Amino acid sequence: MIDATFPKTLLEFHDRFSDEDACLDYLRRQKWPEGFRCPSCAHERAWTIRTWRLDECASCGHQASLTAGTMSHGTRKPLTMVVPRDLRVRG
Ligand SMILES: [Zn+2]
Repeated sequence: MIDATFPKTLLEFHDRFSDEDACLDYLRRQKWPEGFRCPSCAHERAWTIRTWRLDECASCGHQASLTAGTMSHGTRKPLTMVVPRDLRVRG
């Protein structure tokens, strides 16, 4: 039996991870479900350095990788390729 909702879900899936920023947002929410909090000084504001895919504490400069612990870590591939695959692997 074909699940009629599947193509729509897949489309939404791709929409959600359609660009690098969307993927970074997703990774950020996974890492900081309640918003950024610096592991070093507990400050609550950070600058995102997109090139390196990390958040840098606005207070002390501590840098926290957004991809650490995910399949996206250490790859140079676009996150749009890596993040959805990571999710599928986790099921
Ligand atoms: Zn800090």
